[in-house]
Amino acid sequence: MADTIFITDERIDGDADADGPLTGRTVAIKDNISTEGVRTTCGSAMLEDYVPPYDATVVSRLKDAGATIVGKTNMDEFGMGTTTETSAFGPTDNPAAPGHVPGGSSGGSAAAVAAGEAELALGSDTGGSIRCPAAFCGVVGIKPTYGLVSRYGLVAYGNSLEQIGPFGETVEDAAALLDVITGPDDRDATTRAVELDGESYADAATGDVDGLTIGVPTELVEGADEGVVDTFWDAIAELEAQGAEYHEVSLPSVEHAVEAYYVIAMSEASSNLARFDGVRYGPATDADGNWNETFAAVRKEGFGDEVKRRILLGTYALSAGYHDKYYKKAQDARAWVKQDFDEALSEADVLASPTMPVTPFEQGESLDDPLQMYLADANTVPVNLADLPAISVPAGESDVDGLPVGLQLVGPSFGEERLIRAASALE
Ligand code: GLN
Repeated sequence: MADTIFITDERIDGDADADGPLTGRTVAIKDNISTEGVRTTCGSAMLEDYVPPYDATVVSRLKDAGATIVGKTNMDEFGMGTTTETSAFGPTDNPAAPGHVPGGSSGGSAAAVAAGEAELALGSDTGGSIRCPAAFCGVVGIKPTYGLVSRYGLVAYGNSLEQIGPFGETVEDAAALLDVITGPDDRDATTRAVELDGESYADAATGDVDGLTIGVPTELVEGADEGVVDTFWDAIAELEAQGAEYHEVSLPSVEHAVEAYYVIAMSEASSNLARFDGVRYGPATDADGNWNETFAAVRKEGFGDEVKRRILLGTYALSAGYHDKYYKKAQDARAWVKQDFDEALSEADVLASPTMPVTPFEQGESLDDPLQMYLADANTVPVNLADLPAISVPAGESDVDGLPVGLQLVGPSFGEERLIRAASALE
């Protein structure tokens, strides 16, 4: 089986004189993050030959910090998927569970860290694309609060939902990478400065959970597989043994989160992907003259099935006759999800759940059933709808199939330090 961790295996040296916090450290970068002079494909045939003329803000910051970029990693096409199998460049194997998917859409980045190809990696998370592969590959992944990390140079999929975030083998490693990429950016008006309690995010990895209150949303545990649920409760027991306490909380709105997420994400995608028109981006085709024919021919050839499906559904959800019925309703549900999280977090320091309700799929298992794939995102998408931060940390292996299970912790807006502190108690 073809096994692609990197789509482009090209090294980019950071500023050697920088003596920065990441000098001598290696970082793999998801292939939807722009790198000047190095091909950036988004896992799509549409961008097979696209070389960006500029760096994403996070990439400039990595270079300034002295990091060595080791390559651009495989991903589901434009970030659309949960397995990295929708990539036009073939699948990626899971180094922690050979024969299984690494999760997605940032599967190549998580696999790079799990396989030791890079110490650190960047992914992007629109609805779970950092946390899912972290959980499936047995590494740590952080989805920052919306607005903590600049999206300048990230090829947009669902821009009201997504953030770039770090992977590491340990919580402290991931936090150290977060330290480098955060901070306001004039080129992304949604970013803001955050006052930290301590010196840095990495400093927060103390493992101190004494007195921490954990809310466990019943709805996010109920639907999970038995082996996942057992491993999850073992991790909660370990946190309790270290001085944390837990109680169950309810998030009634999350029942509608997957529907709302997919309507919003597909609607935004249908608009964002309109720029791939064969003029500025895309393969050359034989169609000549007629604009509509050329546009259709390029998109037919350049996009894969999952991307086409989402553009069609998103266009439909935004169309005049159906906008109120789908898009507006989804926005109402999003507001409800936010409210539910705010309430639950007023009675707990953090919320905990299994990151994924299942263990890694076997390669090829879920491709012909998109709905099964969408439902696997049940625990991750609510967090993006609510704009909140979350971390996935390894919780152990399922005693049913021996495969990796991740624990997800969700915190209040810009509460990353709290998540880092709590998650590091499980290491
Ligand atoms: N699996 C989700 C999707 O396909 C999340 C993807 C992501 O976070 N980029 O939309």
